[in-house]
Amino acid sequence: MAKKPGKSTGKSAGSKAGTSSKKGVAPKDAVREPGDLWSTPAQEALRWVRGTDLSALDQAATPGWSGGRAEGEALMAARGQELADLQERLFAHGRTGGDRSVLLVLQGIDTSGKGGIVRHVVGMVDPQGVMHRGFGVPTEEEREHDYLWRIRNALPRPGFLGVFDRSHHEQVLVVRVDRLEPVKVWRKHFSELNAFESEVAASGTVIVKATLVVSPDEQKKRLAKRLERPDKHWKYNPSDIDVRLKLPEYLAAYQEMLDRTSTKDAPWYVVPADRKWYARLAVTELLTDALRSLDLGWPPADFDVAAEKARLAET
Ligand code: AMP
Ligand code: MG
Repeated sequence: MAKKPGKSTGKSAGSKAGTSSKKGVAPKDAVREPGDLWSTPAQEALRWVRGTDLSALDQAATPGWSGGRAEGEALMAARGQELADLQERLFAHGRTGGDRSVLLVLQGIDTSGKGGIVRHVVGMVDPQGVMHRGFGVPTEEEREHDYLWRIRNALPRPGFLGVFDRSHHEQVLVVRVDRLEPVKVWRKHFSELNAFESEVAASGTVIVKATLVVSPDEQKKRLAKRLERPDKHWKYNPSDIDVRLKLPEYLAAYQEMLDRTSTKDAPWYVVPADRKWYARLAVTELLTDALRSLDLGWPPADFDVAAEKARLAET
């Protein structure tokens, strides 16, 4: 995890110099692909290690990435094509009886950029293959069922990329911070969440969980912008300030959520989110890696291709 340096601009030290000097000396045939600017793959650089101090995270850091914003945006555009191709394979796999799926879980306080990830990362793939669901305060109907009911209903069907904007983890976040359940009750959720996710993984779903972490200063700026701009007012909720006042409690809740619900079946990745371009690039990498891990080819034709060509030629 990227630790807060003493006094830092947030940029990983020497990243720019490293990139440009390498470019200068590299022989022509060794010109680096943009992907090479990951000095450590995102899935390694961001994977939560139990016991890490979340309060020491540098929210403006760019862990694993040795390039700057322009290179990051260039790589994201290139990855977008790969991501779309991989997602189409997944969709084709589902259409032909396959049972695999991918679930991207996004957590993070208001203004951490969850919606931006949905628009800019998930937005790069074909929407017909995406099952997106945002989880807010449970509705009356949802409250009549156990808390996993609405989650189960929103799980991606085979062949789909599921995206959760907030999730079942709110049961150990807002529920804890706002004391919506007694301690004894919400404490049980850690093991319930893990058992649930093991079951989902066993059914063929690759789970990728990303927590976006924004600094208090950056959050204030983003909230101010929401208040300043009429086109952002719809995103603002007066309760956002209440959440801001409870940031220390949220920090403790996130710390324990990460420590207790990051598992082999459903690991957490912690993404510094003060630099939106980095958070988007990082989640793109995590998602691309998850889809690649399925190793799906194109389903073979269930008809005689030569015969169909001949039939078409006759028309
Ligand atoms: P937003 O993401 O801005 O649409 O806000 C959704 C709101 O729903 C947030 O304030 C969350 O804290 C709240 N929320 C999400 N899940 C739960 C839950 N299980 N119980 C209570 N509140 C929740
Ligand atoms: Mg909100």
